[in-house]
Amino acid sequence: MSISKKVTYCVGDGIGPEIMEAVLSIMEAARVPIEWEEVLIGEKVYLSGNTSGISAEAWETIRRNKVFLKAPITTPQGGGYKSLNVTIRKSLALFANVRPCRSYAPFVETKHPEMDVIIVRENEEDLYAGIEHQQTDDVVQCLKLITRPGCERVIRYAFALARQQGRKKVTCFSKDNIMKQTDGLFHRVFDEIAREYPDIEAEHMIVDIGAARLADTPERFDVVVMPNLYGDILSDVAAQISGSVGMAGSANIGEQCAMFEAIHGSAPDIAGQNIANPSGLLQGAIMMLNHLGLGSYAETIQNAWLRVIEKGIHTADIYREGRSTQKVSTRAFAEAVIAHL
Ligand code: NAD
Repeated sequence: MSISKKVTYCVGDGIGPEIMEAVLSIMEAARVPIEWEEVLIGEKVYLSGNTSGISAEAWETIRRNKVFLKAPITTPQGGGYKSLNVTIRKSLALFANVRPCRSYAPFVETKHPEMDVIIVRENEEDLYAGIEHQQTDDVVQCLKLITRPGCERVIRYAFALARQQGRKKVTCFSKDNIMKQTDGLFHRVFDEIAREYPDIEAEHMIVDIGAARLADTPERFDVVVMPNLYGDILSDVAAQISGSVGMAGSANIGEQCAMFEAIHGSAPDIAGQNIANPSGLLQGAIMMLNHLGLGSYAETIQNAWLRVIEKGIHTADIYREGRSTQKVSTRAFAEAVIAHL
């Protein structure tokens, strides 16, 4: 019997509460030995006047437990509000964002049945470093920050992950034909670290052609590492072309703490309708179980989830006449996974 691990979670905004309820019900049914501690962050906190969207007590809980399962958060539009997602990643020094995007063909429709790519996104720097200001009424500026230690950490992580998962190749995307200093440093550090991993093929592409090839022939990629902004955008592309943005989970990894989530946002357009796909958050939770050393629980839940997907029991985003057998709600999908545990 494993000793219980403590994990912080938040239900988030939009579809967050629905998909988190689904995921927690599956974890409970699988008797995962986790003691859960809930924190309230996001929209309600922002609207109470706290422009950071997170209280000091929530920070304390997240830092103490070190592992955080986070449902998506809505960042209110307009000045004054900081993106909580970016704040959490930076404050907890979560330097690598790992986003596996694979197809589940023939069960889930995709034009790319062979794709199985892990995107590793630098998570603290680049244009997301938060250095943005107004110079005059008509001129605003956002600074792109790239550091050697930041590049080294995430690129080494990508190669180590490739080796650990038996992957063959790491591709780097950058735009150093234009941003010779910032993206130039990322590319240079990539070439240096690649030499430490002679067993893994290393290649580099300018991000524009890299993005085009990723969208066209994703099966030619294995692990792809890139600066923050490109990784944010291209991991959504990769998840969408694998089947749905609702299918992919993500791990945010730091030296001390780690945060797990779905790659998608709070989907306010479908919130409260019990139709969202909880698979992305569930995939994030499965990555969390592996991180916690609870691999056997991760495997049990992943297998049950796969059986449900393979039987064609699908939420609306991936439901296709002829391919799927049942269109189910968020809750019914979770119940189906539980029935297959
Ligand atoms: P989104 O990812 O929330 O939604 C994009 C589209 O995908 C929508 O049509 C939505 O219905 C659909 N979709 C997303 N997840 C789905 C799921 N699980 N099942 C079925 N369909 C799903 O992106 P957006 O609309 O640009 O952003 C909405 C809010 O989410 C914004 O406030 C944004 O800041 C926030 N956001 C948060 C995170 C996060 O918490 N990590 C990430 C991205 C965006």
